[in-house]
Amino acid sequence: MKGLVAGLVKFRMHDYEEHKNLFCRLKRRQEPHTLFIGCSDSRVVPELITKSLPGELFVVRNIANIVPKYKEPHEHDTSATSAAIEYAIKVLKVKNIVICGHSNCGGCHSIYLPDEILNTMPATKKWLELAENVKTRVLEQLPQQDDLEMREWLTEQVNIVEQFRHLLTYPFILEKYNNNEINIIGMYFTIETGEVFIYDSAKGAFELAN
Ligand SMILES: [Zn+2]
Repeated sequence: MKGLVAGLVKFRMHDYEEHKNLFCRLKRRQEPHTLFIGCSDSRVVPELITKSLPGELFVVRNIANIVPKYKEPHEHDTSATSAAIEYAIKVLKVKNIVICGHSNCGGCHSIYLPDEILNTMPATKKWLELAENVKTRVLEQLPQQDDLEMREWLTEQVNIVEQFRHLLTYPFILEKYNNNEINIIGMYFTIETGEVFIYDSAKGAFELAN
């Protein structure tokens, strides 16, 4: 607790002062250029890895950077992630959507946990069911499953591609995407090297951002 409060003071005295004009300009409204969908993992800090300032990223983070598929209004979607996506596109009119996965993702690892463990955390279990198709795709490619490190790496990357697809189930995103009015960017962040790889949909592969 003490560390958090000390951080607040340090922010106000130093960082805020450094960007005081920016904060004053942002007083009344935000115009972020990018919706950033990332994992809640404490090691993946969107503003830090993209060198962004306040006002630039509209961020939604959840376990394993999952995008729930679109639901029709009568289906009562209560997902905070779906609401953030809708708001970012319809109200803020962002130009880019980033889906950022990362190495050593606990959420991606957890989709393989046995029921006896998952049943002790029912909300997490229910959430991870949204990534069930990721698991299916990975197991198709790696039926033996003896290389767990390979399975995790593949899961983290397949997950980004699947969530990219889920975004296109939102009719208002699909329309903009087809009209080249919005960019969707899949990113994979490697914690220990600081490298970010960007998904090239034409090649079906991730390439180092340069
Ligand atoms: Zn994660």
